[in-house]
Amino acid sequence: MTIKKGKHTVCIHQGQIKDEQFGGSISPIYMASSYPFLDVEKNRYPRYFNTPNQEVISSKVAALENAEAALPFSSGMAAISTSLFAFLQNGDHVIFQNEIYGGSYNLVQKDFARYGIEYSFTKGLDVRHFENEIRDNTKVIYIETPSNPLLSITDVKAVADLARKHGILTMIDNTFASPLNQTPLDLGIDISIHSATKYLSGHSDISAGVVAGSAKNIEKIMLQARNLGGNLSDFMCFLLERSIKTLALRIEKHNENAQFIADQLSLNPMISKVYYPGLKTHKNHEIAKSQMHGFGGMLSFELNKEFDSKVFQKKLLMIKPSMSLAGVESTIIQPSLTSHALLSVQERENQGISDNLLRLSVGLENKEDILADIEQALR
Ligand SMILES: *Cc1c(COP(=O)(O)O)cnc(C)c1O
Repeated sequence: MTIKKGKHTVCIHQGQIKDEQFGGSISPIYMASSYPFLDVEKNRYPRYFNTPNQEVISSKVAALENAEAALPFSSGMAAISTSLFAFLQNGDHVIFQNEIYGGSYNLVQKDFARYGIEYSFTKGLDVRHFENEIRDNTKVIYIETPSNPLLSITDVKAVADLARKHGILTMIDNTFASPLNQTPLDLGIDISIHSATKYLSGHSDISAGVVAGSAKNIEKIMLQARNLGGNLSDFMCFLLERSIKTLALRIEKHNENAQFIADQLSLNPMISKVYYPGLKTHKNHEIAKSQMHGFGGMLSFELNKEFDSKVFQKKLLMIKPSMSLAGVESTIIQPSLTSHALLSVQERENQGISDNLLRLSVGLENKEDILADIEQALR
């Protein structure tokens, strides 16, 4: 009999390799790239995604996502590109929501036309915006919620229902929520993808990605993955397993800290806007509440016009201006100079991304210290 375990327990124990040799309390690392071939149940090989340490990650992530199966990749983009190419071919059409991660956007813009894959971006995030883009040859709908950098919310179940009705496969980039705050398969999504470089790792020292879904869909992605070769090394699997042990604990604290900072910044007259799905003032707070188990550690805010956001970032003493996110340490970034630098000022304005918009990855420091740093920089 299998007993359904709590998420903290799953994070710590699920999939762990028993150390038969010495009885050590953690999974041993098996670095072998060569395994027996004759008379074995499966042929193990790193690029077949089935080494012992890879299987630990698959088992843990599948359990956290309430999925039948999962796979570990060498980066979030390896997971995203492999999943898309597994289900799309020449002549197919795919719908992307209009706010997606910069790397995913580049993949679509630069490569899809060359492979004869048609695509469209929605004009908004309501379900009707997705419906508007459906064509006879639409095979995949791809969403990302909460989105980067404005923490916009897409109604996951509504989009999944729409896609089901039309026999279209659905994928979600679930990175910002983490599997603790959002389990999209429960809402009808087919494939959930993460940049494990972010919350699953959590310590800014791993590059990895994961994909979760039904056994059938994951098998299809795995067969594509064997050819593209984006597998995660066993040593990185070990590090990622170590990180995931504290994932549930970390996410609880990220949620608490980010809600506190969002609430406090909302009251600050030097800040004109705060974007956080946990705020009642967020446009889609009710949808977020219905589909998320927690609101996450990411938020954005806009400084009043008289501020220079570059000067503000330089005045921060603890919070680091930094490219990545989701670490134990708080980091901040100005999207107009980074992820959205290639857009014109007008294009940025249309998307609601002003020069004074800052995206904050709220870390696990004492929340009063994070707030104090922001307040002293504003002064
Ligand atoms: C970072 C990120 C990715 C890409 O992941 P890599 O590990 O950098 O390849 C994809 N989606 C989101 C939302 C991200 O934040």
